[in-house]
Amino acid sequence: MSNEIGQRICGVDFDNTIVSYDDVLASIARQRGLVDASEAGSKRKIRDRIRQLPEGEIEWQKCQALIYGPCIDQARINDGVPEFFHLCAQRRVKVYIISHKTESSPFDTVTNLRQAAMDWMTGQRFFEASGLDLRQSDVFFADSRREKARTIARLQCTHFIDDLEETFLEETFPQSTARILYDPARQEPAAAGITVMKSWKDICEHLFDRD
Ligand SMILES: [Mg+2]
Repeated sequence: MSNEIGQRICGVDFDNTIVSYDDVLASIARQRGLVDASEAGSKRKIRDRIRQLPEGEIEWQKCQALIYGPCIDQARINDGVPEFFHLCAQRRVKVYIISHKTESSPFDTVTNLRQAAMDWMTGQRFFEASGLDLRQSDVFFADSRREKARTIARLQCTHFIDDLEETFLEETFPQSTARILYDPARQEPAAAGITVMKSWKDICEHLFDRD
């Protein structure tokens, strides 16, 4: 087993890929009376339920403003993410976080959502050598999905990990970048050229075990 992997550069999405909002969204949706106390589930399930309500789209956007902003401190890191970053550091694999995230929400113009994400990462020890060992300058925010795909190309990512298939289907997404869809609940196959992974453990095995 070699200790280094030549030229591998991994790009990773932030929202719902690194950070899980499932619990914080469920608790906010309950507090706002949008779902019953007994209802739980993934962010996607709760989102779909909220969107079906009258004014559901607006309610959903208000919830998003809260979970990505003032309530992000209640969000948790997905299982296996720290191990992934440790493996990358060990094997000298460069990692970037590349996120499509606007600076603010129309429902909360005070909170800077990018700063909230950076503060969350700081709290999770992303930027400590004894933590996840990333640099703040390795985090990129894009205003649109198109700009995100361009950033992935510019940083020459050999791999990109994202929870949204749409990221990979973006026109400007680089052809040479391997597409890894992180989707724990996925049953159906993804589009051609996309590898579906149900856990970060599987992603680590996929990327590192055969080296
Ligand atoms: Mg995402």
